[in-house]
Amino acid sequence: MTTPTPDPGWKEFADHVVRETFSEHQGQCQCQGCSHHRGRCQKKFKSTERSAGGEGEEGWQADHRDGDHRNDSPGNCQILCCVCHRDKTARERRAEIARASR
Ligand SMILES: [Zn+2]
Ligand SMILES: [Zn+2]
Repeated sequence: MTTPTPDPGWKEFADHVVRETFSEHQGQCQCQGCSHHRGRCQKKFKSTERSAGGEGEEGWQADHRDGDHRNDSPGNCQILCCVCHRDKTARERRAEIARASR
């Protein structure tokens, strides 16, 4: 592995888990509760449109549903578009800060 990880315990999902989750949802973003869209996010992608996760990128990403990056079990994998993923990560950060300052 050559890519640096922000957390030593960070686990990426296995390729087949990501592929299965992606095809199960036909490439649609699984987000249900963002502030920037109502209800279900309607974005849909081709499997080739996976994003590496850089700033301002378009495409889809595999997300850790419960926000625990050590939990790489298949049930914790969900497909999110970049916009929703950034939104979710920001919400998780805020929740973490709120917990830490208590
Ligand atoms: Zn989305
Ligand atoms: Zn969303």
